Amino acid sequence: MSTQIWTRLDYDRPGKQVGHLHLPHSVHRSAYGNIVIPLGIVAGGKGPTLLLTAGTHGDEYEGQIALTKLLRNIDPKSVNGRLIVIPMLNAPAARAGMRTSPIDGANLNRAFPGDPLGGPTAAIAHYVSSVLFPMADAYQDIHAGGSSLDYLPFVSVRQSGDADLDARAMAAARAFGAPLIQVWGYSPDPRLSTAESNRQKIVSLGGEFGGGGAVSRRGLAIVERGLERLMAHLGIMAPLDESPPPPALEVEVQGRDHYVYAEADGLFEPLADLGESVLAGQPCGNVHDPDDPLRPAALHLFRRDGMLVCRRHPGQVRRGDCLAHLAAPRRG
Ligand code: CA
Repeated sequence: MSTQIWTRLDYDRPGKQVGHLHLPHSVHRSAYGNIVIPLGIVAGGKGPTLLLTAGTHGDEYEGQIALTKLLRNIDPKSVNGRLIVIPMLNAPAARAGMRTSPIDGANLNRAFPGDPLGGPTAAIAHYVSSVLFPMADAYQDIHAGGSSLDYLPFVSVRQSGDADLDARAMAAARAFGAPLIQVWGYSPDPRLSTAESNRQKIVSLGGEFGGGGAVSRRGLAIVERGLERLMAHLGIMAPLDESPPPPALEVEVQGRDHYVYAEADGLFEPLADLGESVLAGQPCGNVHDPDDPLRPAALHLFRRDGMLVCRRHPGQVRRGDCLAHLAAPRRG
């Protein structure tokens, strides 16, 4: 079964086109209706194709803003190759400001490679996997922590196990010029968009550029400048007139012991800050129960040494929520 998603845009036409993907969605108020997903195509010359997506999670905003500005501002005459730009890939989730789709409850970044006959989220994943990835030489899916997490901004690479592909992705990540590069060496879930793009041997970047359901000025600046450098690295745009950015700090996440999870319900009092270097056994935070003031706080400790790159944003926690995760210096 092939995709039912359609567009009036032509992926092979030179110039700048901005329109929509149409995902047929028959409901009570609109029998022959469509979910529309904004799409931009900017093409010219014989260079490579770069696919850029944001809004895979709808409550992560730096990438959505960066890709919106890119589409608005880019001069197609400056492009050698092709950009395929989707600023709010899970459009129903993005319109609702939610991580997951309000239509089917699904998380697009746990839906790959997707299903053309599944719910809207699965159908979007399938379109990316079966139509967009085969056209792409390089791909970046731009994330942040969303409503529940805050991230120290970084560009990321997910280890694929293919040494040549991983080396090309690291070269692209270094060219992106963020101050921090995180290598996901531990990401067992095969349903991520970058897991599927790795399977299709596409040079793939991710990145977390803020969080808390807000917009990080610093994260947005890093991603905007990084996209320009990435396009130059790929030969799609002319090199930037700048001195090269300083080398990034390179860190990696290699196991479950990098994460701290809540072991009680209550209110999370963090005891370490983003960017802080911590030691195994150091306090990560307390969980208090204001409903039972005399009950001792549940103290949560870091399980290993590392740098705090991600922390829970809301104060309320339930047992099992992720409170924090660390990254360790890259072993090379
Ligand atoms: Ca995300």
